[in-house]
Formats: sequence, C-alpha cells, structure tokens
Amino acid sequence: MVRSVIPPEPGEARRLAALRRYRILDTLPERAYDDIVRLASTLCGTPISTVTLIDLDRQWFKASIGTTDRENAREIAFCDHAIRQPDDLFVVRDASVDPRFIDNPLVTAPGGIRFYAGMPLVTAEGDALGTVCVVDRCPRDLSPAQLDGLRALGRQVVALLELRRLNLDSQRLLAERDLLNQSLVSYQRELEDLNQSLDRQASHDHLTGLVNRSGLDKLREDARAGRVRFSGPFTVALLDVDHFKRVNDGYGHATGDSVLRIVGEEIRRGVRGGDVAARYGGEEFLLFLPDTSPDGAMVVVERIRQAVAARTDVAVPVTLSAGLAAGVVGRDRVEDVFQRADQALYQAKARGRDRVEAAQD
Ligand code: GH3
Ligand code: MG
Ligand code: MG
Repeated sequence: MVRSVIPPEPGEARRLAALRRYRILDTLPERAYDDIVRLASTLCGTPISTVTLIDLDRQWFKASIGTTDRENAREIAFCDHAIRQPDDLFVVRDASVDPRFIDNPLVTAPGGIRFYAGMPLVTAEGDALGTVCVVDRCPRDLSPAQLDGLRALGRQVVALLELRRLNLDSQRLLAERDLLNQSLVSYQRELEDLNQSLDRQASHDHLTGLVNRSGLDKLREDARAGRVRFSGPFTVALLDVDHFKRVNDGYGHATGDSVLRIVGEEIRRGVRGGDVAARYGGEEFLLFLPDTSPDGAMVVVERIRQAVAARTDVAVPVTLSAGLAAGVVGRDRVEDVFQRADQALYQAKARGRDRVEAAQD
C-alpha cells in the first residue's frame, strides 16, 4: 500500500515561522517538559508519551517517555495529523484498522503503535506547533477525565513555550539596551573629544601651535579664579621678529608665515613643561616662565634666539629681539611686568636688534 503524503496546510509557512521564534528545536531536555510527559503517561496509563514539535519535514521530541527516538520523518508522524485539526484532541483508537495508518511503519513494526491521543499545542496566535501525546501498543480508550487532563497538559506546554519566548525576548531587549548604552557612551566620548579639540583650536594659534591671544586671556582668567596656581618668582619674555615687514614685502606672505612657523618651533623646543608660550600678536611672542629668575630666562631666550638665527631652511636670515622682566607672584602685577618686558624689548630694538635685553629693577 502507498503511504499517504498529506499536502501542507495553507498557513504552513506562517506556522513554521512561529515555531522558529521559540528557538526550541534541537535544544537540550528540560525538567518542566520531562515532567509533562511523565504526568501524561501516568494520567492516561500509557507506556509512551511525547512533547512533539512539527518541523518542516520531521517531528522532533522536546521530551519523551517510553521511546528513545529523538525524531521521526514528518510523513509518518501521527502528530502531523493532530496539528491539522488543532481545535481538539486527535484520537486513534486502533491504528492497525485505520486506513490512514494501516501501512505506517510505526504501526507495522513489531510492537508498533495501536493507540494514539494527541493534544495540539496551539499558540495565542492560532499556530499549532506540535502536540503533547500519549501512545500505546494496544488499542484502548481514554475516560473523559483523562481526555480533559491531556487537554490541560497541552495548555501547560503552551504556557511553558510562551514563557520561553518572553524570556528570549527580554534577553534580546536587555542585549539591545546594553548595545545602545555602549554606543551612547562612545558617542559621548566622541563629543567630549570633539569639545576638547574645539577648545584647543579656539585657544591655540593654528600657524605655530602656540597658545593664542584668547588662550592667554583664558589662562589669565583661570589664574584669577584660582583654577591654575602660580607662586614665587617668574619672568615674562617678549620676542619680536626683526624687520618682519621686509620679509613679507620682499618674499611674500607665505614666506612670512613659514618664518613664523619656524620661530614657533624653536620656542616650543626651548621652553619647559610648565612654561606658557604664546603668539600674542602678528610676529610677537610671549613667554611666561614660572619659577624662573631673569638669569635663567636669559639662557632660555638666548638659546631660542640663536636657534632661530641658525635655521638654514628659510629663504631669509631671521633674527629675533627680546625683552625680559621679572616679578614675584603676589607682589607684582603681571601687566606691570609685561610693560617692563616691552620696554626692554624696545631697548633691544634700539640697540641694534638680534639681541635680548633684561629690564633693570
Ligand atoms: P621690527 O624689527 O621693528 O619689529 O620691524 P617689523 O617689520 O618686524 O615690525 P612691524 O610691526 O612694522 O611689522 C610687523 C609685520 O608683521 C606687519 C604685518 O603685516 C606682519 N604680520 C602680522 N601678522 C602676520 C602673519 O600672520 N603672517 C605674516 N606673513 N605676516 C604677518
Ligand atoms: Mg617685528
Ligand atoms: Mg612687532
């Protein structure tokens, strides 16, 4: 006899998609489902019971008692018949005389199936995913109470499946929230980095990389507010490029800029970590050297002057004039010390340029 192959139901694709969402196929045994089959077989007095899920072309047992099979081909599955009439129990009293199962290998095998009762597992959306069923090797009947009990167990399995899906969904949501948090944190970090670099751009001169006028103002404000603390003796040095107008006029603005860049380089190389080096005017530079005596400052500024003069990678020889003045934090106003440094610079210019002069106390 030819085995009956039943064509798929119209909602089959949707049913399979629903089943996939539970991600239960091929998972390990679980106590809760094992308990259900034990209860079902005890309730109905059958040697065999399974919680079965109907996959595309197989039936797979999430739990079973009385059989060692993990799965069978769908085309011989009693449970596949059961899910096609999902509204109630599917009962076969004696498969050996039922034309639908008479030649089924599960029936014709020695000790094969005779009795089957399966309760479809129908989700709230109406998809029949499988069954909880009881099976016996001899024909039999179940009492109304046993049939009712089997229906209740079917509802319990659906509840277990729903719990499983809720769990999976909440795990996914938690993972998504973590991911979102992580990306927010890294976004915030990017913003902070951007802010820092904007702050730096606003307070630094792009040509020389030194602090600019507004950076200098900010520093003065920070010192006044106590955010930066200086104490003890300090020296202010003002450096000015000699005859810079001639460089611009004779070689062009671009050469003028490269001269400024070189002066900036030598200043940065010549100062220490705690020093402030600023380009505060066109070709005018300011050094604020904390904890530095005029003699010490003279060494620093002389070294910068000589280093600039020794540069051969400019189109024109570059010389600097500089003036220094010293003060003590708490005793002298920085503005006054600046004025004296400016006078010393004026003297350096007057005495022939390319030199450093210190203000006399
Ligand atoms: P002194 O030796 O007396 O200092 O003469 P000087 O020519 O250096 O002084 P002056 O103040 O007359 O000229 C400064 C020039 O610096 C004028 C201005 O055009 C130029 N300058 C200011 N800022 C820049 C800049 O960013 N790039 C260039 N290339 N030139 C600038
Ligand atoms: Mg100048
Ligand atoms: Mg000048």
